[in-house]
Amino acid sequence: MVREQDLNEITGEIQTLSRLLQGWIQQPQTAPSESERYNRLRHHLGLVSQLGMMERKDGLPEIDYDKLLGGDLVTLYLWLPQDVDATPLIQQLSCYGIHAKVIQQAAKLAQALQDKAPEAVVAFTEFAANDPILLLAPTISSICPLILTSPRHDFQARLAAVRAGAGSLLDWPLQAHQLIDQLSFGDLGEKREPLRVLIVEDMESLAGLYSSVLNAQGVETREETQPERVLDMIEQFRPDLILMDMYMPQCSGMELAKVIRQQRLLDGIPVVFLSVEKRQAVQLDALTLGIDGFLTKPVAPEELIVTVINRARRYRKLRSYIINDSLTGLLNHSHLHGQLEYSIQRARRDQRPLSLAMLDLDFFKTINDSHGHPAGDELLINLARFLKERLRSSDLVGRYGGEEFAIVLPGTNQTQARELMDQLRQDFSQIQQRAPDGDFRQTFSVGISSMDTAGSSTELVQQADEMLYRAKANGRNRVETMPN
Ligand code: GH3
Ligand code: MG
Ligand code: MG
Ligand code: MG
Repeated sequence: MVREQDLNEITGEIQTLSRLLQGWIQQPQTAPSESERYNRLRHHLGLVSQLGMMERKDGLPEIDYDKLLGGDLVTLYLWLPQDVDATPLIQQLSCYGIHAKVIQQAAKLAQALQDKAPEAVVAFTEFAANDPILLLAPTISSICPLILTSPRHDFQARLAAVRAGAGSLLDWPLQAHQLIDQLSFGDLGEKREPLRVLIVEDMESLAGLYSSVLNAQGVETREETQPERVLDMIEQFRPDLILMDMYMPQCSGMELAKVIRQQRLLDGIPVVFLSVEKRQAVQLDALTLGIDGFLTKPVAPEELIVTVINRARRYRKLRSYIINDSLTGLLNHSHLHGQLEYSIQRARRDQRPLSLAMLDLDFFKTINDSHGHPAGDELLINLARFLKERLRSSDLVGRYGGEEFAIVLPGTNQTQARELMDQLRQDFSQIQQRAPDGDFRQTFSVGISSMDTAGSSTELVQQADEMLYRAKANGRNRVETMPN
């Protein structure tokens, strides 16, 4: 049964349309031009048919992302050769907040999958015809992603992996950081950080309809009916795509898109227009503006899903190349600064605390000197992954300079920031860093400042720097905060 609110809106549209038509019939001299009449007809009919054709979907059950990111809820099942000691791998994964459990028997794995679906199954195979894990593979991949690891990477092996339904084939022996990479891209990454779509549509019931269809695909949405609120909304919600109605009473979608494009930081965010307008000229104008797509109302649910999800994914990936440091994938210096300014303004407006942590590796030069520059690079990548895994998605992590990192912690006061960073410091120092000439461990020092003592981004950075210097002077491998 169609929702009552939708029925009311459909009725309203039909009444408006019928009044309009009667007006044109009774007073033809005041009717607009023929092309304008067709425009209006298309507009109203488009709304009516959109409301009439697209069924609402029930959203997915709410996932508690904070909990998921907070730690041990991320579970992996490991299927490894009997004679391999998985302890070092398990320990390394636990430093990234991942709980890995080794299961050695097919029956036990099948049972475990029934009891609790893990985030993924990671399995060793040499692709022997009778390998039990390959027999179980279809069952596994119907429940969760399957990641295979193998010494074989020839074409036959890759093909067999694909046929087994594996999402990826990793090197053997398995490296914790390669696994982490796999877990943060594609479907799995989106489960932890869903795609975000902002819907700008003056008709509430239509906005709700699009939302429900996208939510059912695991996409997070916000609806905005007021164009003047859109910039704020973008800042808060950080959408991966904007779905924009072409015709709104206050201003046109095209104008609003131009306003968005004026903001340098928002440049590149894809805008997909929704309109009953089919005329080529309008579409062309939209495309030359850097508009990324055009959907015609009534749009079919499948078309909405495919158009939106593909573009949002591509944007997320592209954006990560542009604004991130190429070695570590973290925010680069200039973007971190831009984002820090934003975060400070927001913290002030919402009267919430904010802390900044500056982190610097201890005696890093000696790592380069004794293990080689590539090993140093590898370590920087490891640290970046570690930080991204362990911090909340609302925290900002940037590579500030060579072996120095900056972390913006919104909603976190100085005491909380200290506790958090100290925990990270301890956990990171436990990770075995691998180098061709032997494993080693690495520590870092941290300086923390907060908006309790600093009024601007310059002051925040300066104070955190001072505290970092103090941490170094006081012996390294420690955290220092501004005295209150
Ligand atoms: P401290 O505990 O005082 O911070 O000592 P440190 O050796 O870490 O500090 P220092 O500033 O003397 O040296 C930093 C080193 O970081 C120098 C440089 O070779 C190294 N480094 C900076 N960027 C990179 C990079 O991208 N890759 C690698 N491998 N090393 C880098
Ligand atoms: Mg509209
Ligand atoms: Mg250093
Ligand atoms: Mg340094």
